[in-house]
Amino acid sequence: MIGNVYSTICPGCNFGCGLYIRENGELEVDFRKSSPANAGKLCRFGMSLPRFYTPARSIVDGRETTLDEAAKEAAKRISSTKGSVAFLSLGNTTCEEHLAFQKLAESFGSLYTGVELGALPGDVHQTLSVGIPYSEIEAAKHIVLFIDPYEQYPLIVRRLLLAKKKGAKITSIWWKDMPLADENLRPADTSKLQLTGDSLIIADFHPLSDTEQVKSLLALAKNAGAKITFLKPFVNSTGAYILSMDAKQKSLAQLIEDINKGTIKTLFCLESDILELMPEAIAKLTNLIVQTGQESAITKKAHIVIAHEPLYKKRGTLINNEGRAQAPGGAGTGGLEALGTIAGTKFDFDSLHESVKKMIGITAVDEFTVPAYERPTYAAPRATAKPPDAKILLASVYNPFMWSGLADDNDFVELSLNMVRALKLLKGGTVKINYNGSLLEKKFKVAPVQDNVLLTGKRIGIEKGAITPVEVSR
Ligand code: SF4
Repeated sequence: MIGNVYSTICPGCNFGCGLYIRENGELEVDFRKSSPANAGKLCRFGMSLPRFYTPARSIVDGRETTLDEAAKEAAKRISSTKGSVAFLSLGNTTCEEHLAFQKLAESFGSLYTGVELGALPGDVHQTLSVGIPYSEIEAAKHIVLFIDPYEQYPLIVRRLLLAKKKGAKITSIWWKDMPLADENLRPADTSKLQLTGDSLIIADFHPLSDTEQVKSLLALAKNAGAKITFLKPFVNSTGAYILSMDAKQKSLAQLIEDINKGTIKTLFCLESDILELMPEAIAKLTNLIVQTGQESAITKKAHIVIAHEPLYKKRGTLINNEGRAQAPGGAGTGGLEALGTIAGTKFDFDSLHESVKKMIGITAVDEFTVPAYERPTYAAPRATAKPPDAKILLASVYNPFMWSGLADDNDFVELSLNMVRALKLLKGGTVKINYNGSLLEKKFKVAPVQDNVLLTGKRIGIEKGAITPVEVSR
């Protein structure tokens, strides 16, 4: 930090884009051209950070209070519900805070990072946790995309175009044609894919990933001798997954089941807005405790909010998708202090930082170097993914706006011209979407989408995971 300017990392996804944030009465975003992950470029979400960073206030049962009071009240409620407390940290905070939180979870309840690592064979955990350097994407001869790069991880588009310029062929396996792809296949046509040892598969791994689909992608790469890399949605997903790889943890689906059964009564979310992921389960909690640096949909529902500095003011370490160690930009340790109050101990930043470096396998936080990570071989997992059998599908394209619950102006569904004609939809009009009796009317946009699919980059409230069977009408 120099003056009122913080050199920081965008919290929108794990791509690790660097930028400057200037506190000038209001927040301003500036481009940081020296940033190795993005060379200064930012996507729509990165440019929206002044909206994202709305400061949070500490609250207990609707009453505004101090951070210390909120942390003490959280400590009381966690102790009184010991045995039925769950701790969730998706990877939106520093490694040091995540590690302190993990220690707290070990003494009181169960830790969740949101992903189902435990449901996947141990020999694939490292492959899922740490991606390959972006320079390897640029150098690949054949890239196979199982993501929508424009919508989900926008700064990867630059790397893909550079690879293409060097002669790479790009195959996209998606519900809609990708302008940069040389070959567009649909998810049901994966068997037509021609992979070789020169191919690189790019997919993503997140709390709503279908485990069988992840296994089948790993097997696809393994059987062809191809490389595979997984992108991730939270600023420190990679750090959180590495630090928690050996921690006892359950899946998000298990957490929802435990809340519904009443075996989890208190949920403590560290920088994790999961309102989008489990809206019904959250309403059943006796205590929802949220520790965060900014206001979001979940702070409005929480019984206790422990509010401290936002990410760009924190001291600590972030690990981006390539495994690059980055600093969030500030000197604040308010989050660690709050966790110490709750744990009844003091978390020392320096000793946590040393542990983090050891566990990650780095000696310094140097964003200009990609450390050498072990890339162990793995056995091809057996997968039993089966295609959905519904006639019309609503496919959610998870993107930074959706994960962080930030309002996005792109409020429409995409569908094909054939669907528009079949339903006799009117230009500039809407389409009606029906799921189990819930009826919604949405604006639509015509795009080269598979004929039985509606794509949405915004949660519309009827989703049941990444794919929801629906009925549509005019
Ligand atoms: S690609 Fe990800 S990290 Fe980069 S600006 Fe967009 S949301 Fe932020």
